[in-house]
Amino acid sequence: MEYGTSVEDSAAVRDWLARRGTFGHFIGGSFTDPGDLFDTRDPSTGEVLAQVSQGSDTDIAAAVAAARAAQADWAALPGTERARYLYALARHVQKRERFLSVLETLDNGKPIREARDIDVPLVARHFYHHAGWAELRDTQFPGQAPLGVCGQIIPWNFPLLMLAWKIAPALAAGNTVVLKPAEYTPLTALAFAEICQEVGLPAGVVNIVTGDGATGAALVAAEVDKIAFTGSTEVGRGIAAALAGTGRKLTLELGGKSPFVVMEDADLDAAVEGVVDGIWFNQGQVCCAGSRILVAEAVAGRFETLMRARMDRLRVGAPLDKSTDLGAIVDQVQKDRILAICRAAVDAGAELVGGQPQDGCFIAPGYLRNIAPANPGMTEEIFGPIATLSTFRTADEAVELANNTRYGLAASVWSESATVATDLASRIRVGVVWINGANMFDAAAPFGGYRESGYGREGGSGGMLDYLAELPVTAVPDAAPS
Ligand code: NAD
Repeated sequence: MEYGTSVEDSAAVRDWLARRGTFGHFIGGSFTDPGDLFDTRDPSTGEVLAQVSQGSDTDIAAAVAAARAAQADWAALPGTERARYLYALARHVQKRERFLSVLETLDNGKPIREARDIDVPLVARHFYHHAGWAELRDTQFPGQAPLGVCGQIIPWNFPLLMLAWKIAPALAAGNTVVLKPAEYTPLTALAFAEICQEVGLPAGVVNIVTGDGATGAALVAAEVDKIAFTGSTEVGRGIAAALAGTGRKLTLELGGKSPFVVMEDADLDAAVEGVVDGIWFNQGQVCCAGSRILVAEAVAGRFETLMRARMDRLRVGAPLDKSTDLGAIVDQVQKDRILAICRAAVDAGAELVGGQPQDGCFIAPGYLRNIAPANPGMTEEIFGPIATLSTFRTADEAVELANNTRYGLAASVWSESATVATDLASRIRVGVVWINGANMFDAAAPFGGYRESGYGREGGSGGMLDYLAELPVTAVPDAAPS
């Protein structure tokens, strides 16, 4: 079963995959001949969708050279001209919305409803928003200049959206980019490369090199002026070490273990819907997922009953079926990782409700209860559809539990009192707090973390600043006395 008229959309995608078959990199405005190839698969069926090239040091060097050659002219364009390109990219993403949504769902396994209603519209919004920043750069950021060439490395959970978060601000500021998509999900980035051609983006402004971690490491080692990385804390730590002492700018968007705090006076039905958005959206493969549910003891019984009933109604299944709530986990490796953390949590005394593995890359939604603060299920980022559920007695205890983590990316707070909610929000040490909501994103709102969740911001003026540098101060010698 397929979504709306997406039989046609799927046919268009299948056609494109059959026509393209194998992909080279996008360097200097055109696609290179395919090199060493690897498969990219539909995780819901295991079917090979296409073969893409494993980027080598030489490919990275060629892409960086193309970006370098294009940068001065790109930066010298009037802001209105750069804005025109960003508007055109946004418009073309919208025109190919259905195609891109189906392609994303096939490559990643996420429900089509999410790809079409959330991911792709947010991609277009991000380019529209940053078209505005391109026009406003010189007036809003006087004394600032673009950094030059930016290396950008993204994960597989929101492939096209993470690309937009990286490319839109970089281009608006006057930088050129070399982007490496995740090895599980390279296809929408390659479709985006075609869009760059369609809008006539000057050659070399956007370059895309596919490959795995080794390709990413080659980009980190290359002559770029900034690395923007989104991914695991472990890899982010290695990149920070590799760049130490080079003077190159670095922003890191890493993992999280975000608290979801339900106060005694919360609207419990709404909070349960918040849990669906918080931890079961995208199969829980969300860096800011509301993965630690903390509930006031007085309402915990009622809340759990409601949450359990809602969880049991969620449908796990074919990602292209519009009624699917949870699609496939991106890869068997990730599925095994999720299940291993759950096993460790149960071995350490927690009780797992739901969360059972199914055939293929599927896992039913679930949660861990009766879980101690030091249990690995409570401290490790599961990055799957499994939350933890624990209780607190006072607001102070809620804050203490919320902050009891090495991460600091996001939090959700649920209360019918603005005073209670904002007081709590101000005491939780994270980059973003949602009140009576979860996983809400906008291009105008800076997103980013603290502590082991990384540093730097994406979105809004804060995000722009991370793609700019202070112009050098020019000292004018005193005029000679006459
Ligand atoms: P990952 O760190 O393994 O991979 C992310 C990207 O880095 C991929 O493109 C990968 O090829 C590349 N990479 C891997 N090793 C590299 C190396 N040594 N040098 C340079 N690049 C390298 O993470 P993942 O498994 O793809 O994604 C899951 C993790 O990412 C989770 O921990 C999640 O929390 C985090 N994440 C964070 C955010 C955020 O915004 N904070 C968003 C999405 C995912």
